[in-house]
Amino acid sequence: MAEREGLIWLDGEMVDWKDAKVHVLTHTLHYGMGCFEGVRAYATDKGAQIFRLQEHTDRLFRSAHILNMEMPFSKEEINEAQLAAVRENNLEHAYLRPMVFFGSEGMGLRADNLKVHVMVAAWEWPSYMSPEAKELGIKVQTSSYTRHHVNITMCKAKANGNYMNSMLALSEALRSGCEEALLLDNEGYVAEGSGENIFVIREGKIYTPELTSCLDGITRRTVIELAKEELGLDVIEKRITRDEVYVADEAFFTGTAAEVLPIRELDGRQIGSGRRGPITEKLQTLYFDQVTGKRAEHPEWLSPVNG
Ligand code: PMP
Repeated sequence: MAEREGLIWLDGEMVDWKDAKVHVLTHTLHYGMGCFEGVRAYATDKGAQIFRLQEHTDRLFRSAHILNMEMPFSKEEINEAQLAAVRENNLEHAYLRPMVFFGSEGMGLRADNLKVHVMVAAWEWPSYMSPEAKELGIKVQTSSYTRHHVNITMCKAKANGNYMNSMLALSEALRSGCEEALLLDNEGYVAEGSGENIFVIREGKIYTPELTSCLDGITRRTVIELAKEELGLDVIEKRITRDEVYVADEAFFTGTAAEVLPIRELDGRQIGSGRRGPITEKLQTLYFDQVTGKRAEHPEWLSPVNG
């Protein structure tokens, strides 16, 4: 990734991709105290547009606040940095990675002499999951790793260090032939995937875990709105057990990268018909139409990079 052509926004300036470097004593590299976002831009008939830019920037600032990292830029500057990262790299479909991290001024855990840096990179990234996975769904395994407890780390922050838990869970699931992990909270209730929120559907009602230990996903919020507004369906936030997923009619993950991704199997149990269910399909279509600017509703969710 480091050897590409292009530009990366770093601390207020566009720098050459290959020169966007940090020192090995960068504090965040050692202890994982930092926060980031995963954002996407889609090709639309108005050119590339970033989906829910403001919400991602707001969450980045909330994450920094939770971690007590003082943002050296305004929200407007970080919005503009993201638009510029897509625009100046001439991207159409893009994944964006803003990150807030501590510099290499010191190594102590006190972190009292450290500079806060911000970077935004963007690169071409048409799809995270294959077209077959989007239609047929994926195989998921309940993880042997527990999702973070709310008093061990800060689950509302999209914090760098939190992702060690996600990576351990995902690599375990991949090694046993599944495509994603489902993490349970410390009481054994369903929390989320390694990088996705989860929804289950039973008898026409949609359920999703409360936001206790899972991330307040922006795709989750989008799908809840679409389900209520467009399909007139109830979305109930409640504690969910893993066997409620086994007996669901449909289940799917949501995330900026995963979008709306059907789950066809959990722990060797087929879910519903064993492929994308009808409500999941409707929500997936609504979501794709929304992010690619094909729907008239919610124009405020798209920010044109050449606006
Ligand atoms: N949970 C976790 C742990 C994640 O990393 C993500 C991806 N950011 C999500 C849920 C989904 O969040 P979003 O829809 O905002 O991408």
